[in-house]
Amino acid sequence: MQIARGRSSGAGGESMAAKREYMVSRQIAARGVSDPNVREAMLAVPREVFVPAELAEFAYEDTPLPIGADQTISQPYIVAMMLEAAEIAPGEKVLDVGTGSGYAAALASRIAGKVVSIERHAELTEAARKAIDTLGYDNIDLRIGDGTQGAADEAPFDVILVAAGGPEIPEILIEQLSPGGRMIIPVGPVHRYQHLLRIRKTGDNRIKQEDLGPVAFVPLIGVGGWRDPACEEI
Ligand code: SAM
Repeated sequence: MQIARGRSSGAGGESMAAKREYMVSRQIAARGVSDPNVREAMLAVPREVFVPAELAEFAYEDTPLPIGADQTISQPYIVAMMLEAAEIAPGEKVLDVGTGSGYAAALASRIAGKVVSIERHAELTEAARKAIDTLGYDNIDLRIGDGTQGAADEAPFDVILVAAGGPEIPEILIEQLSPGGRMIIPVGPVHRYQHLLRIRKTGDNRIKQEDLGPVAFVPLIGVGGWRDPACEEI
């Protein structure tokens, strides 16, 4: 496959590009996201390619949207805020837990050297793969499985992004974070209400934790998350 990272503007034409610019200006920049790499990525990746065709006209609304399997593509601002908080430097290796539509993985791939992205629903991974192949991003490794177990074969990661909320920070993910690495993860004692945390692993392997504020993500289901898959339907 041809390398298109840094070049593809994707499908959609003028009006989608204009909507994308408006989104970045009104939803992202106006709320204080200032990292130029994040803004460039948000301007470049066509969100309409990652939502079901019948919802494409709503792709630049300030909201999550359904993507099937009872899951959602996150609100654009939340994705931008997480990417900025993760402080991804060019060339770094990112683990993305909860591929969903693949949009966040695509954005991260515009900045990072490589993104490993894991999703528990195979049907979502297949749709994400189609979107990512359409755009020609070739530095994303999509996997089906329990992302709370990470990806030992690719560890350590400079950045771990978790897009679903569990009751605690999965121990294995902390282990798979490199010294100096950052993890952005929603954690909360009840389903769908969490605080977004930034975890930093120091050079001497100590953990520092910051609270970035309240959020509402779908449940993180797995060995290191909520154990009962039925809680996805609540
Ligand atoms: N970042 C995604 C995007 O850009 O579309 C949005 C992700 S959605 C809010 C959260 C995703 O996490 C869902 O697709 C859900 O199936 C997935 N998920 C939940 N628990 C998981 C786990 N243990 N491993 C992998 N994926 C998980």
